[in-house]
Amino acid sequence: MQTLGYKDLVKESCYLNGEWISSPERLVIHNPATGAIIASVPKLGAAETRDAIAAANLAGLTWRALSGNQRAIILRRWFDLVILHSDVLAQILTEEMGKPLAEAKAEIAYGASYIEWFSEEAKRIYGDVIPATQSDQRLLVIKQPVGVVAAITPWNFPSAMLARKLAPALAAGCTVVAKPAEQTPLSALALAVLAEQAGIPKGVLNIITGDPVAIGGELTRNPLVKKITFTGSTEIGRLLLRQSADTVKRVSMELGGNAPFIVFEDADLDAAVDGALASKHRNAGQTCVCTNRFYVHDLIYDAFVAKLRAKVEALRVGNGLNLEVEQGPLIDEAAVSKVEAHISDAVAKGAIVVLGGKRHALGGTFFQPTILSNVTPAMKIATEETFGPVAPIFRFSSEADVVSQANASEYGLASYFYTRDIGRVWRVAEAIEAGMVGINTGIISTEVAPFGGIKQSGYGREGSKYGINDYLEIKYLCIAGI
Ligand code: ADP
Repeated sequence: MQTLGYKDLVKESCYLNGEWISSPERLVIHNPATGAIIASVPKLGAAETRDAIAAANLAGLTWRALSGNQRAIILRRWFDLVILHSDVLAQILTEEMGKPLAEAKAEIAYGASYIEWFSEEAKRIYGDVIPATQSDQRLLVIKQPVGVVAAITPWNFPSAMLARKLAPALAAGCTVVAKPAEQTPLSALALAVLAEQAGIPKGVLNIITGDPVAIGGELTRNPLVKKITFTGSTEIGRLLLRQSADTVKRVSMELGGNAPFIVFEDADLDAAVDGALASKHRNAGQTCVCTNRFYVHDLIYDAFVAKLRAKVEALRVGNGLNLEVEQGPLIDEAAVSKVEAHISDAVAKGAIVVLGGKRHALGGTFFQPTILSNVTPAMKIATEETFGPVAPIFRFSSEADVVSQANASEYGLASYFYTRDIGRVWRVAEAIEAGMVGINTGIISTEVAPFGGIKQSGYGREGSKYGINDYLEIKYLCIAGI
């Protein structure tokens, strides 16, 4: 097929039952780096959501009846198309979200890797044969698609967070109604354009944009929806859980994090500084696995702060479309206010601003890469997710104490630590309360490993051989009279 261009992929309509539909009421999409209007998308509500759910329910009858291999062929085609169009998809992503173009390209490749992975997993949905307790019986387990899935995704990874849900759902034989974040719907709609080109049948994938409360209300209360998969804040996750309770839906929740990053006294300091930079400053600190709290051993504290300062000071801030830029703007004014509030609270309680601390001279929602030292557990930044380019550095002197500080959080998503002591690797990895642990690395996400949290960071896993189970029901067959 011919490669599609920017104009073909920036869709200003929603994808519902294989049709592109519009509406007079619009959501306007801005480029956070410039404030310019990029496009507008329909502002739809409960009625259109109901239609999309009905379409997905109907389409599910034929989609689930295909063999895993047949679904795999279509998903593979979709993966190929995403890769073929990755440059344009990355441009759209940077324009609507602000992250540097290199990060946007990495996100497209990362999201696509889930489509590839689950296209392969579609062929490997195994059942089981259980040895029976009676000789005239045979006991079997089969796995079947959950049914209609509602996916609600955030703005910080507008392409990958959706791909990470769509790929396993479609591979399992589920159909989907997805609602992207209102700030960043264009990446989601562009994925749908390519899904349509790949031959995903009408009604199997529906993307609906508009009022989150109305759409979310219908998605959670409609009994035809069998599962909610959500990535976003813990606060909205709790709300969706409550709303889903009446119809007892299955749920996967990938919620907030408050990742600790511990540097022990025996760590490779330069490697730890590189890992710190990668895990903190990616996406301007706006990822749920970004480090929120650095704990550095007393003996190496000053050296770590000095080395990190040198690296962070060199970060180039600006419009992500400029290839030199390493940190884009924050998503919106509310994000900047939260960062400012965390910094001023910390400073009022004795933190020292080592670097940055203010809005960037570029204006808008640009913020200076910031480092705070002398940070203590009494500060807001210790317990709340900042979601910005601020590295608060705590001091510690004992392993037991730092593990207990790291665990003093309602969240349990990602965590990181640096040490060269193999005994400590095991002790700390086992003691830390997190769904994911990076040991001597600040970057851990990959489609082949299970991504997800514990505690109030949610439940369910995305990616890996475990990921497809979130979209499958287990059915037990007892055959008697043999
Ligand atoms: P953030 O604070 O990072 O924007 P949110 O949890 O508010 O995170 O948003 C994540 C997703 O949840 C977005 O798609 C948003 O539109 C959606 N959302 C927000 N409020 C609701 C709601 N009441 N019902 C359903 N979805 C919602």
